[in-house]
Amino acid sequence: MFVDSHAHIDGPEFDADRDEIIERAHDAGVSAILNVGTGDPHTGVFERAIELGRKYTSVYTAIGTHPHDARFYNDAAEQKTKSLLKSGERVVAWGEIGLDFHYDNSPRDVQMEVFKRQLHAALECDVPVIIHTREAERETIEILKSDYDGASRRGVFHCFSGSKELALRALDLEFMISFSGIVTFKKAEELREIAKEVPLDRLLVETDCPFLAPVPYRGKRNEPAYVVEVARCIAELRGVETEEIARITTANFKRFLQIPS
Ligand SMILES: [Zn+2]
Ligand SMILES: [Zn+2]
Repeated sequence: MFVDSHAHIDGPEFDADRDEIIERAHDAGVSAILNVGTGDPHTGVFERAIELGRKYTSVYTAIGTHPHDARFYNDAAEQKTKSLLKSGERVVAWGEIGLDFHYDNSPRDVQMEVFKRQLHAALECDVPVIIHTREAERETIEILKSDYDGASRRGVFHCFSGSKELALRALDLEFMISFSGIVTFKKAEELREIAKEVPLDRLLVETDCPFLAPVPYRGKRNEPAYVVEVARCIAELRGVETEEIARITTANFKRFLQIPS
């Protein structure tokens, strides 16, 4: 059984065939999907994600304000996120949050401030965080060190595509590391080196669909069933069976998100 630990399946890309892609995921052995609701928190995007989780029992939900949308975050967004997390609707993580200095869709100082605020709020709510970081490794680590310390500290670097240095820092912070289809891309030699060495109990796999479809689907719309290709790639790198990576990443997912077996 596989788990797609990070997907975006509540958006318009899947409106036409959402039932089928979830069915295809089940057929491929994907037993659970963590759907991550993103966007301007005031526009109903979190509610839309939760609604999806209500409809499909294999779908869990995460909500949080993405660094792209940091400029929309305020007290009302924070209150809304907190109360939805407590709604009992299988909302299991706060994210994705972090820093994206590649696109700079929100000003960097705002991104950093909002990242800190959401880390504090997640600690208060006792839920794990999902970290998105791009071209901001140093700042991300500094903020995690200074603003994310408490008994309930738990997190994952999702769609990991950073340096070996970042991976080591993440592991030092006791974070999980999740690999996406990028690991299958031809030029991702350095990333494959990292995927080979991450301790097995810290490893997760994801699609981050609809983007970043793994080889051999590269360039097409991505979907949760393709997480099998990510697991297959990592299994090959490590010289183990794909089933072994499936078993371990599924167990890690349940432990990390405190989902009963
Ligand atoms: Zn992301
Ligand atoms: Zn994402």
